[in-house]
Amino acid sequence: MSDVQIIDEVVLYEVQDQIAIVTMNRPEYNNAQNSQMTYALDKALQLACNDDDVKVIVLAGEGKHFSAGHDIGTPGRDVDQSFERTHLWYDHVNKPGGEFLYAREHEVYLGMCRRWRELPKPTIAMVQGACVAGGLMLAWVCDLVIADERAFFSDPVVRMGIPGVEYFAHVHELNARIAKEFLFTGERMSAQRAYEMGMVNRVVPTDELRKETLAMAGRIAQMPRLGLQLTKQVINNAEDLMGKRSTMDMAFGLHHFAHAHNETISGDRLGGYDAKAMAKANKSAAKGKES
Ligand code: ZN
Repeated sequence: MSDVQIIDEVVLYEVQDQIAIVTMNRPEYNNAQNSQMTYALDKALQLACNDDDVKVIVLAGEGKHFSAGHDIGTPGRDVDQSFERTHLWYDHVNKPGGEFLYAREHEVYLGMCRRWRELPKPTIAMVQGACVAGGLMLAWVCDLVIADERAFFSDPVVRMGIPGVEYFAHVHELNARIAKEFLFTGERMSAQRAYEMGMVNRVVPTDELRKETLAMAGRIAQMPRLGLQLTKQVINNAEDLMGKRSTMDMAFGLHHFAHAHNETISGDRLGGYDAKAMAKANKSAAKGKES
């Protein structure tokens, strides 16, 4: 058994058999990510990166769901708070207009996700239940994704008038036509279909998810550290040559045009949707009852 460390209350960290397990720990809010959590994740991933005994990193979520996305409505929402930043961005707090979210999301979403994608050790997302919007970003930065059979994936933020989440990898995770369907409808994609589309490496029974994920991590851990790192670098570079990075840069600009547009029109950067309103709209759309 390994010791579990708690990083800033919201992330658990443990190491066993050369595998670091980093676990989001806000199960009461389906692991909605506030800034406290993204900074704690960054700390935990740095620990794993710096520990020579760690060969592979597993990113997990405590509870029924991997992640319901960014925190847009829990009591711990901390969008107005300053944190010690991990990039050379200035503080977003008290900045006017579009500058507020542009600075914040450069730091906590696009910046951190790119940083985590480039971790020099293999990463595996262990996904159960919901993996929605901001949850996708965490699964997608990982090298492999293992999902349980009841997992589902969706990005409903087009409903806010915004072209998908900040880390826009949709068209690299799915082919273009499927990515359009995924975004245009905002509908849930089952683990099985995500597997068929190549977004997921394995779909396993729920009660075997941890065992199967650790078994895969264990097999990878037998490979030499440098060989794994070099291979990861080559494949990430190939994705960037296929346009992943520049597509994401363009999408991030349009994403912020949409936030600013929403603010101009309605005074709300998210187009009037909090977590509850979004869940309700998605449910009603799924039933085909939306007026
Ligand atoms: Zn945003």
